[in-house]
Amino acid sequence: MAAAVEPHRDCPLCPRLHGFIAEWRAREPGWHNAPVPSFLPLQGEDAVRLLVVGLAPGLRGANRTGRPFTGDYAGDLLYSTLKRFGFARGEFQARPDDGLELVETAITNAVRCVPPENKPVGAEIATCRQFLVPTIDRFPRLEAIVTLGAIAHQSTVRALGQRVAALPFRHGARHAVGGITLFPSYHCSRYNTNTGRLTEAMFVDVFSAVRETLG
Ligand code: SF4
Repeated sequence: MAAAVEPHRDCPLCPRLHGFIAEWRAREPGWHNAPVPSFLPLQGEDAVRLLVVGLAPGLRGANRTGRPFTGDYAGDLLYSTLKRFGFARGEFQARPDDGLELVETAITNAVRCVPPENKPVGAEIATCRQFLVPTIDRFPRLEAIVTLGAIAHQSTVRALGQRVAALPFRHGARHAVGGITLFPSYHCSRYNTNTGRLTEAMFVDVFSAVRETLG
């Protein structure tokens, strides 16, 4: 049987994250509070040529709204940049029903459940890779993956069956793996933009390179 692409809503494989979500279900019953599914274009998985891999849902972002990068700052920069290069269209209003559409692009997270302090531990990253591997495999036309931050990058490299030492994380690098090009980028978190580690121009340059590659 093929591996599951999306975890069950009550996935218990990471006890710490399962417990953290249970706490938030009690505190905020109106929130999503579950593994966050990948965001796909309306045309479906066969249309996807670019995959964006984030780290994990933010507590008040995707964990609240149920859509990757929706509801906190990181989404503002990501979706405006995707729109700029034609990878998304419509109005991003930080709500899952805002009508924003992805174009030949999908978005997922290396870890599907919200971790305390935005910090998954190694075992959680490794365990959730069982969903990242079939997520990458489900797109027959995939040509490019943007990995946001070192953890997402390394987990993606492992999911592709490659050695991390051979394909290191470096903002702005490009790595070819078979027919796929990896584009590592610093994560578009508020922390990274506030500290200047990632400027909007640096982020735009990554997606400009992706557009150049995909044509
Ligand atoms: S992080 Fe992934 S593997 Fe762990 S409990 Fe959540 S969905 Fe399951």
